[in-house]
Amino acid sequence: MQIDKLPRYSLGFFPTPLHLLPNLTKRLGGPKLWVKRDDQTGLAFGGNKTRKLEYLLGDALEQNANLLMTFGAPQSNHARQTAAAASRAGLRSILVLRGSPVIDRTGNILIDDLVGAEVRWAGERDPQELMHTIAEVMKTKGQRAYLIPYGGSNGIGAVAYVIAIQEMLDQAKALGVNFDAIVFATSSGGTQAGLVVGARRAGYAGRILGISVDHRSSDLVPKLVDIANAVASRIDLEVQFGESDFEVNDQYLGEGYGIMGAPERDAIRRVAQSEGLLIDPVYTGRAMAGLNDLIHKNVFRPDQNVLFWHTGGTPALFAYSKQFEH
Ligand SMILES: *Cc1c(COP(=O)(O)O)cnc(C)c1O
Repeated sequence: MQIDKLPRYSLGFFPTPLHLLPNLTKRLGGPKLWVKRDDQTGLAFGGNKTRKLEYLLGDALEQNANLLMTFGAPQSNHARQTAAAASRAGLRSILVLRGSPVIDRTGNILIDDLVGAEVRWAGERDPQELMHTIAEVMKTKGQRAYLIPYGGSNGIGAVAYVIAIQEMLDQAKALGVNFDAIVFATSSGGTQAGLVVGARRAGYAGRILGISVDHRSSDLVPKLVDIANAVASRIDLEVQFGESDFEVNDQYLGEGYGIMGAPERDAIRRVAQSEGLLIDPVYTGRAMAGLNDLIHKNVFRPDQNVLFWHTGGTPALFAYSKQFEH
Protein backbone atom coordinates (compact mmCIF):
# COMPACT_ATOMS: atom_id res chain seq x y z
CA MET A 1 0.00 0.00 0.00
CA GLN A 2 1.07 3.61 -0.53
CA ILE A 3 2.83 4.73 2.63
CA ASP A 4 0.48 7.65 3.33
CA LYS A 5 -2.57 5.37 3.07
CA LEU A 6 -1.42 2.97 5.81
CA PRO A 7 -3.52 3.04 8.98
CA ARG A 8 -1.92 5.37 11.52
CA TYR A 9 -3.09 6.54 14.92
CA SER A 10 -1.63 9.92 15.92
CA LEU A 11 0.33 9.80 19.19
CA GLY A 12 3.33 12.10 18.84
CA PHE A 13 4.30 15.66 18.00
CA PHE A 14 6.11 15.88 14.67
CA PRO A 15 8.47 17.00 13.32
CA THR A 16 10.68 16.50 16.36
CA PRO A 17 13.32 19.24 16.75
CA LEU A 18 16.68 19.01 15.01
CA HIS A 19 19.50 21.24 16.23
CA LEU A 20 23.24 21.77 16.48
CA LEU A 21 25.27 20.73 19.53
CA PRO A 22 27.82 23.57 19.45
CA ASN A 23 29.51 22.97 22.79
CA LEU A 24 29.86 19.23 22.40
CA THR A 25 31.20 19.77 18.87
CA LYS A 26 33.88 22.09 20.26
CA ARG A 27 34.68 19.81 23.18
CA LEU A 28 35.23 16.75 20.96
CA GLY A 29 37.11 18.69 18.26
CA GLY A 30 35.69 16.61 15.41
CA PRO A 31 32.82 16.94 12.92
CA LYS A 32 29.90 19.28 13.46
CA LEU A 33 27.47 17.37 15.70
CA TRP A 34 23.70 17.71 15.43
CA VAL A 35 20.88 15.96 17.22
CA LYS A 36 17.45 14.75 16.09
CA ARG A 37 15.21 14.88 19.15
CA ASP A 38 13.07 11.74 19.08
CA ASP A 39 13.30 11.87 22.87
CA GLN A 40 10.73 14.66 22.36
CA THR A 41 7.99 12.72 20.55
CA GLY A 42 5.76 13.72 23.44
CA LEU A 43 4.03 10.53 24.59
CA ALA A 44 4.73 9.93 28.32
CA PHE A 45 8.39 11.07 28.03
CA GLY A 46 8.60 10.03 24.37
CA GLY A 47 11.14 8.03 22.42
CA ASN A 48 11.48 6.18 19.15
CA LYS A 49 8.75 3.63 19.98
CA THR A 50 6.11 6.36 19.76
CA ARG A 51 6.71 6.60 16.01
CA LYS A 52 6.40 2.84 15.51
CA LEU A 53 3.34 2.64 17.76
CA GLU A 54 1.42 5.07 15.55
CA TYR A 55 1.46 2.39 12.83
CA LEU A 56 1.07 -0.59 15.16
CA LEU A 57 -1.91 1.01 16.85
CA GLY A 58 -3.37 1.92 13.47
CA ASP A 59 -3.22 -1.76 12.57
CA ALA A 60 -4.54 -2.87 15.99
CA LEU A 61 -7.58 -0.57 15.73
CA GLU A 62 -8.26 -1.73 12.20
CA GLN A 63 -8.37 -5.28 13.63
CA ASN A 64 -10.77 -4.07 16.31
CA ALA A 65 -8.39 -4.92 19.19
CA ASN A 66 -9.26 -3.83 22.72
CA LEU A 67 -6.04 -4.95 24.40
CA LEU A 68 -2.38 -4.26 23.56
CA MET A 69 0.26 -6.70 24.77
CA THR A 70 4.02 -6.60 24.57
CA PHE A 71 7.09 -7.69 26.54
CA GLY A 72 10.56 -6.45 27.43
CA ALA A 73 13.15 -5.67 30.08
CA PRO A 74 12.00 -4.20 33.43
CA GLN A 75 13.07 -0.70 32.30
CA SER A 76 11.67 -1.19 28.80
CA ASN A 77 10.99 2.12 27.06
CA HIS A 78 9.01 0.21 24.47
CA ALA A 79 6.68 -1.27 27.10
CA ARG A 80 6.17 2.15 28.71
CA GLN A 81 5.27 3.84 25.41
CA THR A 82 3.02 0.91 24.44
CA ALA A 83 1.09 1.25 27.71
CA ALA A 84 0.75 5.01 27.26
CA ALA A 85 -0.41 4.54 23.66
CA ALA A 86 -3.02 2.01 24.76
CA SER A 87 -4.39 4.43 27.35
CA ARG A 88 -4.53 7.22 24.80
CA ALA A 89 -6.54 5.07 22.42
CA GLY A 90 -8.83 3.71 25.13
CA LEU A 91 -7.40 0.17 25.11
CA ARG A 92 -6.20 -2.01 27.97
CA SER A 93 -2.54 -3.00 28.09
CA ILE A 94 -0.67 -5.94 29.54
CA LEU A 95 3.12 -5.77 29.75
CA VAL A 96 5.16 -8.90 30.40
CA LEU A 97 8.46 -7.86 31.96
CA ARG A 98 11.54 -10.01 32.40
CA GLY A 99 12.52 -11.26 35.85
CA SER A 100 11.02 -10.63 39.28
CA PRO A 101 9.17 -7.60 40.62
CA VAL A 102 11.60 -4.83 41.49
CA ILE A 103 11.53 -3.10 44.86
CA ASP A 104 12.48 0.30 43.51
CA ARG A 105 9.45 1.20 41.37
CA THR A 106 11.05 4.06 39.49
CA GLY A 107 11.75 5.19 35.93
CA ASN A 108 9.73 3.37 33.29
CA ILE A 109 8.15 1.01 35.84
CA LEU A 110 6.54 3.92 37.67
CA ILE A 111 5.17 5.27 34.40
CA ASP A 112 3.79 1.84 33.38
CA ASP A 113 1.79 1.93 36.59
CA LEU A 114 0.69 5.57 36.26
CA VAL A 115 -0.71 5.09 32.75
CA GLY A 116 -2.68 2.06 33.92
CA ALA A 117 -0.80 -0.89 32.47
CA GLU A 118 -1.23 -4.36 33.92
CA VAL A 119 2.30 -5.60 34.58
CA ARG A 120 3.05 -9.35 34.72
CA TRP A 121 6.51 -10.44 35.84
CA ALA A 122 7.91 -13.39 33.91
CA GLY A 123 10.15 -14.67 36.71
CA GLU A 124 11.99 -17.72 35.38
CA ARG A 125 9.81 -17.93 32.29
CA ASP A 126 10.53 -16.56 28.85
CA PRO A 127 8.62 -13.24 28.60
CA GLN A 128 7.62 -13.72 24.97
CA GLU A 129 6.25 -17.20 25.60
CA LEU A 130 4.40 -15.99 28.67
CA MET A 131 2.84 -13.17 26.63
CA HIS A 132 1.46 -15.75 24.19
CA THR A 133 0.14 -17.89 27.03
CA ILE A 134 -1.62 -14.91 28.63
CA ALA A 135 -3.00 -13.87 25.23
CA GLU A 136 -4.65 -17.30 24.84
CA VAL A 137 -6.30 -16.93 28.25
CA MET A 138 -7.47 -13.43 27.34
CA LYS A 139 -9.01 -14.75 24.10
CA THR A 140 -11.08 -17.30 26.03
CA LYS A 141 -12.36 -14.35 28.07
CA GLY A 142 -13.47 -12.61 24.89
CA GLN A 143 -10.64 -10.08 24.81
CA ARG A 144 -9.28 -9.05 21.41
CA ALA A 145 -5.54 -8.93 22.07
CA TYR A 146 -3.06 -7.34 19.66
CA LEU A 147 0.46 -8.63 20.23
CA ILE A 148 3.33 -6.25 19.55
CA PRO A 149 6.72 -7.84 18.84
CA TYR A 150 9.95 -7.02 20.68
CA GLY A 151 10.69 -3.31 20.35
CA GLY A 152 7.76 -2.88 17.94
CA SER A 153 10.18 -3.96 15.22
CA ASN A 154 8.34 -5.55 12.34
CA GLY A 155 7.28 -4.44 8.88
CA ILE A 156 4.34 -2.52 10.37
CA GLY A 157 6.14 -0.53 13.10
CA ALA A 158 9.36 0.17 11.22
CA VAL A 159 7.48 1.98 8.44
CA ALA A 160 7.53 4.94 10.84
CA TYR A 161 11.26 5.44 10.27
CA VAL A 162 10.76 5.64 6.51
CA ILE A 163 8.63 8.68 7.26
CA ALA A 164 11.05 9.89 9.93
CA ILE A 165 14.05 10.10 7.61
CA GLN A 166 11.98 12.10 5.13
CA GLU A 167 11.03 14.43 7.99
CA MET A 168 14.72 14.80 8.85
CA LEU A 169 15.74 15.44 5.23
CA ASP A 170 13.15 18.22 4.97
CA GLN A 171 14.64 19.83 8.09
CA ALA A 172 18.18 19.41 6.78
CA LYS A 173 17.19 21.10 3.54
CA ALA A 174 15.64 24.03 5.38
CA LEU A 175 18.83 24.37 7.45
CA GLY A 176 21.02 24.06 4.36
CA VAL A 177 23.01 21.19 5.81
CA ASN A 178 23.81 17.77 4.38
CA PHE A 179 24.45 15.05 6.95
CA ASP A 180 27.38 12.81 6.07
CA ALA A 181 26.31 10.28 8.68
CA ILE A 182 23.42 9.41 10.98
CA VAL A 183 24.45 7.65 14.20
CA PHE A 184 22.07 6.05 16.73
CA ALA A 185 21.52 3.17 19.15
CA THR A 186 20.29 -0.03 17.49
CA SER A 187 18.78 -3.05 19.24
CA SER A 188 15.61 -4.72 17.97
CA GLY A 189 16.33 -3.17 14.57
CA GLY A 190 13.13 -1.40 13.54
CA THR A 191 14.67 2.04 13.68
CA GLN A 192 17.68 1.13 11.55
CA ALA A 193 15.68 -0.97 9.07
CA GLY A 194 13.16 1.85 8.58
CA LEU A 195 15.90 4.46 8.17
CA VAL A 196 17.69 2.37 5.54
CA VAL A 197 14.49 1.75 3.56
CA GLY A 198 13.58 5.43 3.86
CA ALA A 199 17.05 6.50 2.75
CA ARG A 200 16.77 4.36 -0.38
CA ARG A 201 13.31 5.72 -1.11
CA ALA A 202 14.42 9.34 -0.60
CA GLY A 203 17.82 9.02 -2.30
CA TYR A 204 19.83 9.80 0.86
CA ALA A 205 23.37 8.55 0.35
CA GLY A 206 25.02 9.29 3.73
CA ARG A 207 26.16 6.69 6.23
CA ILE A 208 23.52 5.11 8.48
CA LEU A 209 25.51 3.75 11.39
CA GLY A 210 23.79 1.79 14.13
CA ILE A 211 25.76 1.37 17.34
CA SER A 212 24.59 -1.93 18.78
CA VAL A 213 23.71 -1.89 22.46
CA ASP A 214 23.29 -5.66 22.85
CA HIS A 215 23.70 -7.85 19.76
CA ARG A 216 26.70 -8.92 17.73
CA SER A 217 26.55 -7.44 14.26
CA SER A 218 26.43 -10.96 12.73
CA ASP A 219 23.24 -11.68 14.73
CA LEU A 220 21.54 -8.34 14.16
CA VAL A 221 22.16 -7.77 10.45
CA PRO A 222 20.06 -10.75 9.23
CA LYS A 223 17.18 -9.41 11.34
CA LEU A 224 17.63 -5.95 9.83
CA VAL A 225 17.42 -7.49 6.36
CA ASP A 226 14.14 -9.25 7.22
CA ILE A 227 12.54 -6.17 8.76
CA ALA A 228 13.65 -3.92 5.87
CA ASN A 229 12.24 -6.32 3.28
CA ALA A 230 8.97 -6.53 5.21
CA VAL A 231 8.79 -2.71 5.28
CA ALA A 232 9.59 -2.44 1.57
CA SER A 233 6.85 -4.91 0.71
CA ARG A 234 4.35 -3.13 2.96
CA ILE A 235 4.91 0.18 1.16
CA ASP A 236 5.19 -1.37 -2.33
CA LEU A 237 8.82 -0.32 -2.74
CA GLU A 238 10.35 -2.73 -5.22
CA VAL A 239 13.76 -3.03 -3.64
CA GLN A 240 15.36 -6.13 -2.16
CA PHE A 241 17.67 -5.43 0.79
CA GLY A 242 20.69 -7.54 1.71
CA GLU A 243 23.29 -7.69 4.45
CA SER A 244 25.62 -5.20 2.75
CA ASP A 245 22.95 -2.50 3.11
CA PHE A 246 23.43 -2.32 6.89
CA GLU A 247 26.26 -0.94 8.98
CA VAL A 248 26.27 -2.07 12.62
CA ASN A 249 29.13 -1.36 15.01
CA ASP A 250 29.25 -3.89 17.87
CA GLN A 251 32.44 -2.64 19.52
CA TYR A 252 30.65 -0.92 22.40
CA LEU A 253 28.63 -3.70 24.02
CA GLY A 254 30.42 -3.24 27.34
CA GLU A 255 29.27 -5.63 30.04
CA GLY A 256 26.00 -6.36 28.22
CA TYR A 257 22.46 -5.05 27.90
CA GLY A 258 21.37 -2.64 30.59
CA ILE A 259 24.70 -2.62 32.41
CA MET A 260 26.00 0.93 32.58
CA GLY A 261 29.78 1.23 32.58
CA ALA A 262 32.22 4.13 32.70
CA PRO A 263 31.90 4.97 28.96
CA GLU A 264 28.12 5.43 29.20
CA ARG A 265 28.31 7.33 32.49
CA ASP A 266 30.99 9.66 31.13
CA ALA A 267 29.03 10.27 27.93
CA ILE A 268 25.86 11.09 29.89
CA ARG A 269 27.72 13.63 32.04
CA ARG A 270 29.62 15.09 29.08
CA VAL A 271 26.45 15.71 27.06
CA ALA A 272 24.48 16.97 30.06
CA GLN A 273 27.26 19.36 31.13
CA SER A 274 28.05 20.71 27.69
CA GLU A 275 24.52 21.00 26.28
CA GLY A 276 22.01 20.55 29.11
CA LEU A 277 20.82 17.56 27.09
CA LEU A 278 19.90 14.26 28.73
CA ILE A 279 20.69 10.88 27.22
CA ASP A 280 20.05 7.49 28.81
CA PRO A 281 22.12 4.72 30.49
CA VAL A 282 21.06 1.80 28.25
CA TYR A 283 20.76 3.03 24.64
CA THR A 284 21.67 6.59 23.80
CA GLY A 285 24.45 6.76 26.41
CA ARG A 286 26.09 3.73 24.83
CA ALA A 287 25.62 5.04 21.30
CA MET A 288 26.99 8.47 22.24
CA ALA A 289 30.00 6.89 23.98
CA GLY A 290 30.64 4.93 20.80
CA LEU A 291 30.28 7.99 18.59
CA ASN A 292 32.66 9.99 20.80
CA ASP A 293 35.21 7.19 20.58
CA LEU A 294 34.89 7.10 16.79
CA ILE A 295 35.44 10.87 16.73
CA HIS A 296 38.60 10.43 18.83
CA LYS A 297 39.76 7.85 16.29
CA ASN A 298 39.25 10.40 13.48
CA VAL A 299 36.62 8.33 11.70
CA PHE A 300 34.94 11.62 10.71
CA ARG A 301 36.56 14.73 9.25
CA PRO A 302 36.11 18.13 10.96
CA ASP A 303 34.36 19.51 7.86
CA GLN A 304 31.68 16.80 8.04
CA ASN A 305 28.23 16.98 9.61
CA VAL A 306 27.12 14.09 11.81
CA LEU A 307 23.57 13.66 13.10
CA PHE A 308 23.06 11.86 16.39
CA TRP A 309 19.52 10.48 16.34
CA HIS A 310 18.35 10.65 19.97
CA THR A 311 15.96 7.71 20.41
CA GLY A 312 14.82 8.56 23.95
CA GLY A 313 15.05 6.38 27.05
CA THR A 314 15.65 9.17 29.55
CA PRO A 315 13.16 7.91 32.21
CA ALA A 316 15.59 5.03 32.84
CA LEU A 317 18.10 7.58 34.21
CA PHE A 318 16.22 7.58 37.51
CA ALA A 319 16.51 3.79 37.87
CA TYR A 320 20.31 4.19 37.68
CA SER A 321 20.61 7.12 40.10
CA LYS A 322 22.73 5.20 42.63
CA GLN A 323 25.32 4.53 39.94
CA PHE A 324 25.85 8.25 39.45
CA GLU A 325 26.95 8.89 43.03
CA HIS A 326 30.33 10.53 43.28
C1 LIG B 1 14.20 0.64 21.67
C2 LIG B 1 15.21 1.71 21.78
C3 LIG B 1 16.30 1.81 20.86
C4 LIG B 1 16.54 0.81 19.78
O1 LIG B 1 15.66 0.93 18.72
P1 LIG B 1 15.33 -0.36 17.86
O2 LIG B 1 14.36 0.10 16.86
O3 LIG B 1 14.78 -1.36 18.83
O4 LIG B 1 16.60 -0.87 17.28
C5 LIG B 1 17.17 2.86 21.00
N1 LIG B 1 17.03 3.76 21.99
C6 LIG B 1 16.02 3.70 22.88
C7 LIG B 1 15.97 4.72 23.93
C8 LIG B 1 15.08 2.67 22.81
O5 LIG B 1 14.10 2.61 23.71
